[in-house]
Amino acid sequence: MTNMVQDIAAAVESYPEETAVGFRGQEWSYEQLWGMTGQFAAGLADHGIGPGDRVAVYLPNLPQFVTAFHGTLHAGGIVVPMNPQYKTREISHLLADSGATVVVALADLVPFVDAVRDDTDVEHVVSVGGEAEGAIPFEEFLADEPAAVVERDDDDVAVQPYTSGTTGKPKGVLLTHHNLAWDARATAKLLPGGVDPDDKFLGVLPLFHIYGMTVTMIATLFEGGGYYPLPAWDAEDTLSAIEAEQLTVMHGVPAMFNDLINFDGADDYDISSIRFANSGGSSLPIEVMRQFEETFDVELYEGYGLTETSPVTHANYPGARRPGSIGKPLDGLEARIVDDDFEDVPPVAEGPVDEETVDLDEITGELVIHGPNVMQGYYGLPEANEEAFTEADGKRWFHTGDVGYRDEDDFYYVVDREKHMIVTGGYNVYPREVEELLFEHPAIADAAVVGIPDERRGETVKAFVVPVPDADLTPDDVREYCLENLAEYKHPREVAFIDELPRTTTGKVQKFELREREADAGGDS
Ligand code: AMP
Repeated sequence: MTNMVQDIAAAVESYPEETAVGFRGQEWSYEQLWGMTGQFAAGLADHGIGPGDRVAVYLPNLPQFVTAFHGTLHAGGIVVPMNPQYKTREISHLLADSGATVVVALADLVPFVDAVRDDTDVEHVVSVGGEAEGAIPFEEFLADEPAAVVERDDDDVAVQPYTSGTTGKPKGVLLTHHNLAWDARATAKLLPGGVDPDDKFLGVLPLFHIYGMTVTMIATLFEGGGYYPLPAWDAEDTLSAIEAEQLTVMHGVPAMFNDLINFDGADDYDISSIRFANSGGSSLPIEVMRQFEETFDVELYEGYGLTETSPVTHANYPGARRPGSIGKPLDGLEARIVDDDFEDVPPVAEGPVDEETVDLDEITGELVIHGPNVMQGYYGLPEANEEAFTEADGKRWFHTGDVGYRDEDDFYYVVDREKHMIVTGGYNVYPREVEELLFEHPAIADAAVVGIPDERRGETVKAFVVPVPDADLTPDDVREYCLENLAEYKHPREVAFIDELPRTTTGKVQKFELREREADAGGDS
């Protein structure tokens, strides 16, 4: 069992002088980071914050995020990360639901907190990057003397992130010290030889999201490596940071890798210092992976996970990789593909299958997980917890809501979220299959496929396509291209060209928004 504060303390003892955090040319050693987290913890204690209290962190990726995060754990508190793109409406639910008493916010975001302060338990606001009325500047909040570590059990909750909530209200996910520490260590082991103190991690995945939090920030800080945050996504800034700092590990979402291959100045950068690159968060189109490897001469691996599993459950890694697959279950956790009766669906011989010749309905089921990284549960939502778990064989299985299959070599394949599957005229269409084909078209830069209401077929397939600039392409061309390559029922009967797909900050296409636009437009395109 592991406790995150003890793990960081051990790294500080082993690597006091190594760089823990690097930002815009400035670096902080492990010893310095430890000093600041202790001072932040003492600041919390001075304001009456103790074990189990919740501290909301409402910041982009900045060194102060790292300090506030570890400082809160140091004080025995629970971190509630909030997306810095959220405004009053969105944070009001998170603050009220979590009961956070302190908010550490970028100075510019403090007014959004003020607007809801009276309806929440927020007592203190700490501002980062400037002063704000009613807020204590971060530097002042740090006490002169560091506090002693407040002991917490491994099974105590450490972080309460909220799930992306593409439908319904976001739910607070209770992740313990052990959940996160186990997952961070398991992902560090995916690198050849594991993470070592010379590793420098690109920190462009948002820290408020579990993928950036565990897999980039925590994973490197347990092992003496460096964490190099970037506050916003920009293809050029990212390439130039990798080159300038000689970063060695890169994690991103498919939309980022897609941006990098479409970025005009890509050839001007040498990112060969990267020894491990990984994509997660949504499915990585095989074509994007291939083009990334060709452009940058760096291998790209795919992993899979969810907020509820801290997050990673599956990964490809050097020596075990199948393009199109989410990889194998991490050592130490169990995964199953089950049917509606919770019986195992047998594996295929070797994936990925040819979706033209294999009936996906026969080989797929829901992916369920049992393991040390699975959340305690959703905060204060007994009904959601009831739905999320099934007890079987003395084990507690978490339902991912993702539909997939596995092969005899234990590689898993996700074909879609259950709720994204399109049923048209009685046939099931998995949007991912159509999207993979669209990505192969040289004149298509980005694409997403959704089901839209159709009187005759129930639903029909619609593709939203972002053409590459100045492409000689019409919606009819796209339809014909799909018809030539797919069963007739799968081809998008409707194709709309748009400038940009709506995405969450973690790269997921907001399909509900595409469907809503469709409804608003009265079905015309
Ligand atoms: P989140 O809780 O925001 O991390 O979202 C988790 C969801 O992201 C999963 O349930 C999947 O639907 C999706 N996801 C993550 N990684 C992958 C992947 N490699 N392939 C397909 N879907 C993925």
